[in-house]
Amino acid sequence: MPVSKRIITPEERARRKEHGKEYESRPDVKARKKEYRNRPEVKAIEKELRDLPENKERRKEYQKEYLARPETKMIRHERDARPEAKAKRKEYYSKPENAARKKEYAKEYYARPEAKVRYKEYRAMPEVKARKRELSSRPDAKARRKEYASSYSISIWKEIFDIYGWKCACCGEDNTAFLTVDHIGGGGRKERTEIGSRLYRAVIEANDPTKYQILCFNCNSGRAMRGIGGICPHKLPKNWRFDLHAPLQTGSS
Ligand SMILES: [Zn+2]
Ligand SMILES: [Zn+2]
Repeated sequence: MPVSKRIITPEERARRKEHGKEYESRPDVKARKKEYRNRPEVKAIEKELRDLPENKERRKEYQKEYLARPETKMIRHERDARPEAKAKRKEYYSKPENAARKKEYAKEYYARPEAKVRYKEYRAMPEVKARKRELSSRPDAKARRKEYASSYSISIWKEIFDIYGWKCACCGEDNTAFLTVDHIGGGGRKERTEIGSRLYRAVIEANDPTKYQILCFNCNSGRAMRGIGGICPHKLPKNWRFDLHAPLQTGSS
């Protein structure tokens, strides 16, 4: 059979292309194609092809290249900033297992030296610094900080009272609003400057009633008065009064 060599003109090619497009878009053709692709044997072949190492590698390469494109980044950034995307993320991370995974990953990520450097650079950017300042000066942020600090100090004080008792060791005052920690044998001021805000944590960690006790502010400051040598006025004779005319003594307690 002689092979007739037919020259395809550009018009003919365009016409065929158009026809192909039209053909592929027919519902019955689409359905047939879908049915074909869904056949187990076809699926198996596709999977086999997908799993070939060279194809996997190529896909990975392409994905990397695709994700690095500025336009892809922009599209993803915009998509992620949409309210519905935000809501979806929030929903997703409200599940404990997802939140735990995120936390685990963040821990691993921020432990990497290059991430540390990048984060440090990020924080040092003037606009990031300014934004942080702006955010933390907002009234709601201030209120949140204050609330956190007060709930934190409440939990600290509960721990302290559980260890050292819920009342003044001298007079028995049990209104916690009047109570404070006393360093038995002095040294409180020195310790405070040494440990600073961690003092109360140190008091809990010490867990040592021979070192610390609970006193009310009256007993605590009464003992600190000069001239009575660290004894609470409660422990002195009932009619004892501080002698305001006595010569000034220095160097005691
Ligand atoms: Zn007291
Ligand atoms: Zn007292």
